[in-house]
Amino acid sequence: MRFALLSDIHGNLEALEAVLRDIANQGSIDAYFCLGDIVGYGADPESCLERITSLSCIAVAGNHDHAAIGCLDPSYFNDYARHAALWTRAQLSAGATQYLRSLSLVVHTNSFSVVHGSLHSPELFNYIQNVKDAERNFSRMDNSLLFVGHSHQPQSFYRSNPMLYSYGYEISIYPQCKTIVNIGSVGQPRDDDPRASYAIYDEESAKVTICRVNYDIDKAADKILSAGLPDALALRLSLGK
Ligand code: ZN
Repeated sequence: MRFALLSDIHGNLEALEAVLRDIANQGSIDAYFCLGDIVGYGADPESCLERITSLSCIAVAGNHDHAAIGCLDPSYFNDYARHAALWTRAQLSAGATQYLRSLSLVVHTNSFSVVHGSLHSPELFNYIQNVKDAERNFSRMDNSLLFVGHSHQPQSFYRSNPMLYSYGYEISIYPQCKTIVNIGSVGQPRDDDPRASYAIYDEESAKVTICRVNYDIDKAADKILSAGLPDALALRLSLGK
């Protein structure tokens, strides 16, 4: 089986469409997974939700999805994220709101699990950014492989002794070694590389590949400015911050 995994689209339709075109060129995909934060920050939340639902994506909720439907207090965010969350809430149709409300926090398949932030109290949307965070998650993993998003930075952790982590884009999966893979962000990368990020997991070759895709950043940024959203949300796209 081959899986395409997307996370942190954040209402960036230009990035999402570029990623979907790239995936279409990668051969057959058996299932799509979305690791949360479909909306928030970007100017096209409703269109991004339509694209994700049309793919029959298996999705989990992120903190921005929860904020957009009133399940998370926006005071949790900084000023401009709060502005974007309230703007997004006002844009969403009843159907989109209902869809976001239907998402669970964690999904387990036969061979891997997906969560937006952390398996440790997933409703708190903690980050996995260092070996301590990773260990807290390894101890909660039934499957040997966990995919996460949330930090917008591709990174992987192996439960070895001592624990190893990598920022590489070709990640070998060993069934006997628990592994956490952060697949980066489609719509707002924060690793100083502005290209959209997503992952392909090929079970047969036991390999996860992080893929980076150029997209029309200027168009996405212009839409953010035209919508009256904070200009920092437009500027950061070209910086990868
Ligand atoms: Zn996010």
